[in-house]
Formats: sequence, structure tokens, C-alpha cells
Amino acid sequence: MRRRTYLAGGASVLAGIAVSGLVSRPPSNERLLEAAREPSGTGEGSSNTETILSGTDHETSLYELDAPNDGPTAMVFGGVHGDERNGIEAAREISDWHPDAGTLVVVPETNRVAVENDDRRGVDGNLNRQFPADRGPQSELAAGIWDAVESYQPDVVLDLHRSLGIYGLHQEFVGQAIFHSPDAHGERLADRLNEDAVPWYLPFHRFTPGESTLSGPLLFQHAARELGASAYIFETTEFLLDHSTMVEMSRLAAAHVLELHGLLELGGDA
Ligand SMILES: [Zn+2]
Repeated sequence: MRRRTYLAGGASVLAGIAVSGLVSRPPSNERLLEAAREPSGTGEGSSNTETILSGTDHETSLYELDAPNDGPTAMVFGGVHGDERNGIEAAREISDWHPDAGTLVVVPETNRVAVENDDRRGVDGNLNRQFPADRGPQSELAAGIWDAVESYQPDVVLDLHRSLGIYGLHQEFVGQAIFHSPDAHGERLADRLNEDAVPWYLPFHRFTPGESTLSGPLLFQHAARELGASAYIFETTEFLLDHSTMVEMSRLAAAHVLELHGLLELGGDA
């Protein structure tokens, strides 16, 4: 019992240290997030908000942000699992970003009923198992989400999640990992996050990239398989990280993905 108490205390101290890492955000991260948040200097973009799955229990908002310059289309999803607040909060913020090129499409509350219930699963179970290879989407919600994906034909898909443990350290958990389609920039993304977003004193929190088979029933796998999208599932962890740190890692992952795929441009000599 004594040992348990000690470990719990240690966890909260470490979480506090992780927060202080945010206060001293490196200049490279500031520059990247500024590029995401500020309108492009080269002309007017436009935005459009629509409701998808309209008239069903699952209706949810989709934000389309068009840059002044042509470029790829990227879709970012939060709330596929309704209790993973980091991805929901980051995606809500991303729905206000300004891409420099192409089109950014954001669905912050993909499984809106599950988000409202703060529950991993929605009324039809685990949404991220409902996109099998050999059949159509397995629920009304999955079908509606897939309709939206097909209508945009994204070049890039990013799905934001979190796990309880750390991949490779805690059995069966996938936190601090980025699983990606073979053509995606998973290794570069992990390298950048390990440089900029993971404090040196949390070595077990360094991100691990993993090339994914595309045969599974996850949304990002389906997008890669059916549409040839460069697709990512991003997983941070609750283990020793507080909420704001998980949100920061999710937001930085999204900004780096958009930059790696040409939707964000870092001015000057970047
Ligand atoms: Zn998840």
C-alpha cells in the first residue's frame, strides 16, 4: 500500500514537470503554430461549416478551410473515441486554423454522441472498428463519416487519439506511437515530435513510428486502402501526462503533418 501511494505521488510530480515544458515552448514550435493560426499573407482563404449526418442522432459539424493557393486536401478527425478529450480539443482548435495551400477539413466530434457521454464507444460500439476491408462501413455513423471522406477524396488523413499506456512499454497499449500508411511521413513526424514536443526527462514518451498494414477496420486504414490517402493514427498517452500536455502533443502532431504535406508553409529559411 505504501508503495502504491509513493508511485501515485511520483506521477503527479512528473505531470507537473511536463506542464512546465509547455511554458518554455521551443521557438520552432511557436513558429509552426503561428503559421497554422495566422492567415496566409498571399490572399484570402475561405471557410465553410456544414452539418454531416444531418437529421440523425449522430449529426456533427464539419469545417472546411480553403487556402488561397491550390494544394492537397487533408482531413483531421477528433472524437472517434468520445472520451479522448485531447483529440477533440485539438481538433476544435484546428477548425480555426488557416492553411497556406490546399484544403483542410476538420471533424472535431466524429462520434458526437460518444463525445457528449464522454465514452469511448457510441451507441453502435467502437467506431474505429467499423471500416472493414471486405464490406461497407458497419453502422449508420460509420457510413455517414465515410460519405464525407469520399466526398473530399483527401490526400492526407489524420485521426487523433490517446491511450492509457505507452506502446512497447505497457502491454496492449499504443500511446506515444504514430501508425501510418507505407507512403506517409510517419518517421519524420516522430523525429520532429521527439525533437520539439517530448521533454528530455520523459525518455519513455518518445514517439515510435509504425508502418501499418492496411487490412484492418480502422478509419485511417480504410482511407489509405480505398482512397490511397497518406494516413496516420496519432496516439498520445494519459500515462504521466496531464491534459494540456496531451493537447499540445496532438496539436503539434497535426501542425507537423500539415507542414510535411505542404498545407502549411514556414516562412523564410525553414
Ligand atoms: Zn482512441
